[in-house]
Order: sequence, then C-alpha cells, then structure tokens
Amino acid sequence: MPTETVYGLAGPAADPLAVAAIFAAKGRPRFNPLISHVADLAAAERIAVFSADARRLAAAFWPGPLTLVLPSQTGSIVCELARAGLDTVAVRVPAHPTALALIRAFGGPVVAPSANRSGRPSPTSLAHAVDETGDRVAVALEGGPCRIGLESTVVSLLDRPRLLRPGAVTREEIEALIGPLAEAEADAKRSPGRMARHYAPNAPVRLGADAPRSGEAYLAFGPHPPGPGVWNLSPTGDLAEAAANLFGLLRAADLSCPVAIAVAPIPEVGLGEAIADRLKRSAGYVG
Ligand code: AMP
Ligand code: MG
Repeated sequence: MPTETVYGLAGPAADPLAVAAIFAAKGRPRFNPLISHVADLAAAERIAVFSADARRLAAAFWPGPLTLVLPSQTGSIVCELARAGLDTVAVRVPAHPTALALIRAFGGPVVAPSANRSGRPSPTSLAHAVDETGDRVAVALEGGPCRIGLESTVVSLLDRPRLLRPGAVTREEIEALIGPLAEAEADAKRSPGRMARHYAPNAPVRLGADAPRSGEAYLAFGPHPPGPGVWNLSPTGDLAEAAANLFGLLRAADLSCPVAIAVAPIPEVGLGEAIADRLKRSAGYVG
C-alpha cells in the first residue's frame, strides 16, 4: 500500500493471523508494535483514547505524517500482536488517496509497517517495495513515488508528550501546539522500535563527510559537481527534497557496491532532525 511517507505492508489490524504474516514477511521482531491506519478521527477514537493534546494534534496534522501513541480504547478491535501486548496503540490517518480509499473500502483499522525487510531502508516507490517484499504479498498497489519519503513522526501522549521518532511533522510544529516535547530516551521501553541499526544498506555508512574517499559512493547535499559515484540528495540544499530522495539514493548508491557510502553534512533543524535520525541509524550510531 502506498502512503505519503513510505510504502507499507498492509493488513487488517484486528486479525492476528494477518498481523503475524506481516511480522514474518518483514522478519520484524514481535516486540516492535505496528501503527494502525484509519480513515478519520472517528475511526481513531474507536481504538484509542484521545486527550485534549491528542485532539489538537489530530486536528492540525491529519490526514498526514503524524502517529499518536495513546491508551488503547476499551473494546478496541486492534489485536494484541499489533500492539505487541502493550495497553497502548499507535494510530495515524495517512494522506494518500490510495491508502485512504483502501482503508475506507476495507472498513477497519489497517496496520502497514514499511514494506522493507526488517532493518533495511524503507521503500519509497513500488519498485523498491517489490524488491524488498514483493514475493511475500498478495497484491501490490501502485501509488507513485512517496511524496515525503520518511516514516511518520511518532509522538507518545501517555504521561507527558514525547517525541519517539522525528519525521516530516517537525518538533517545532508540534511544540507550537502542545508545548515542549520530552525526549524518547528517558522512556525507551515505551518505544521498542528505536533500534540502533535500522534503515541500513549493505555498505557501511559514513556521516558528515565533506568529500568521498577512494572507493566510496557519495550522497551530496547542496551544490556539488556531478560525477560517477555521486548522488545528490538536493542540489539546492532543500531538506524536504533530501528527505524524499534519502532512501531511494541510499539504495542506488548501495547498488554500485561501494566500500562505503559517505554522506554530506545536513543541518539538523526542522525536517533535518528526522533525516539525521534515519542516517544515524543507517550508520548504526544511535541507541
Ligand atoms: P513502523 O510501523 O515501522 O513505521 O514503526 C512504528 C513505530 O511506532 C515503531 O518505532 C514502534 O516502536 C512505534 N510504536 C508503535 N506502537 C507503539 C506503542 N504502542 N508504543 C510506543 N511505540 C509504538
Ligand atoms: Mg519501518
């Protein structure tokens, strides 16, 4: 299933056999819960308990790339396996016409973790999704290249608001509505998906590189002479363009079998925080 963030492996959130098949297709550890995708706020409220802050964020950013982690609603049909046994649930309304049409036609919450095998870069086109998990799915829906290209921002609203995963809805945009966000690290058990090495190509990744070394592929950012082994995330230094290109260019660079993929420095402001998060994990830097 295409979404505006990345392509997902979609299945009914209520069906433990379908959810188990998705975990198996990805090779995803079962302690890492899935996001339930719904068509609107009313559907979200059938599976999650909304606070005032949650309503404010949903009103501002849905449909869109923001996932809320909330207490699970009494009588929710989302199965335990999708929640990894937690008494909380992650929920989002995607902003992609094909995803919304599929969810509406199906009529219930849909889990849709990224359609890569666990630990690999997320697919941002149908071809990349089919390369990763195409042999394990019943149907593949074409929805064009993903507009955003990074996974959703994940905010937990359980005790105090926390940023569990930076994304295209930025920290600054969220804090403007609900005040300061606490760090995820202080509460790591509530975000079991924050693994140190993730989104990783086959080649090692070297960050903050002003230039490639011999044998390295280079992901440039901003003006840079083109040439063999050079891919530019955004020649104009545009963060949204770099985010949309990130996973596709990591894949392209990786296919050239370099000794390493060197990545230019990227400012860590706004959307740059999410890009830096994905890059550090692809390099295996953060826990
Ligand atoms: P993915 O489906 O690969 O985009 O990952 C979903 C992200 O949301 C992972 O980082 C999960 O750990 C996180 N997540 C999903 N459900 C919960 C939950 N109930 N509590 C905390 N984090 C969650
Ligand atoms: Mg993923």
